[in-house]
Amino acid sequence: MDIHVLSLFPDMFSSPFDESIIKRAIDSNIVNIEIHNIRDYAKGRHREVDDYPFGGGGGMVMKPEPLFGALEAIKNEMSKSRTKDEMDRIRTILLSPQGIVLNQSICKNLITIEDLILVCGRYEGIDERVIEQLIDMELSIGDYVLSGGELPAMVLIDSIIRLLPGAVGHQDSIGDDSHVNGLLQFPQYTRPQIFRELEVPEVLLSGNHKAIEEWRYQQSIDRTKLKRPDLMKG
Ligand code: SAM
Repeated sequence: MDIHVLSLFPDMFSSPFDESIIKRAIDSNIVNIEIHNIRDYAKGRHREVDDYPFGGGGGMVMKPEPLFGALEAIKNEMSKSRTKDEMDRIRTILLSPQGIVLNQSICKNLITIEDLILVCGRYEGIDERVIEQLIDMELSIGDYVLSGGELPAMVLIDSIIRLLPGAVGHQDSIGDDSHVNGLLQFPQYTRPQIFRELEVPEVLLSGNHKAIEEWRYQQSIDRTKLKRPDLMKG
């Protein structure tokens, strides 16, 4: 999978992408991530990327020219190694508090797309004409406002990389994760068996796989009802 990210703050991505599962996935060519600086596509002596909003009001708006320039240049480069069909399947996503709220089923759908382009907004957001002409989908990571799309892009990338075959060492464990089957995960315990007089549930030590599986399933249902009753309605 290829993921291109457009940002005004590309350095923000270095550390999170240089650790753990994401780094391993990049090193093993499971995913290829390229970060593009939107400012590189700004024209003029000052390479301005933002301007005052028409109609007044506070804050600045990201100008259309650098974003059109960046998206056109990236797609042009991609077209050199892709067929027309493959180009048509590329999806350009704007991270935005106005988008559909990200969930596990969206992540699962996104891993079927080979090429993603993620656009990170800043300031008051981006010129609406970019959204109308070049954005296929707007995705939000929750109903609150962050200062930029970089953290949401990292959240999105992490959540989809986990689902790519080979990215997570123990692939089986992903199937038990919360939200994968519409339920929250059962409680987990590790050594020591007794910690400050608190004991691990007996069934987990029994070696009886069927009993463990049933216990875990029941726990998943009980805690979903308790912590996220809204999930049980679906
Ligand atoms: N004025 C915009 C609005 O009210 O819709 C919010 C702009 S926000 C300060 C700047 C950028 O941060 C957005 O363009 C978007 O890329 C990103 N952003 C902020 N909150 C987000 C969220 N919940 N999910 C995804 N992206 C978000």
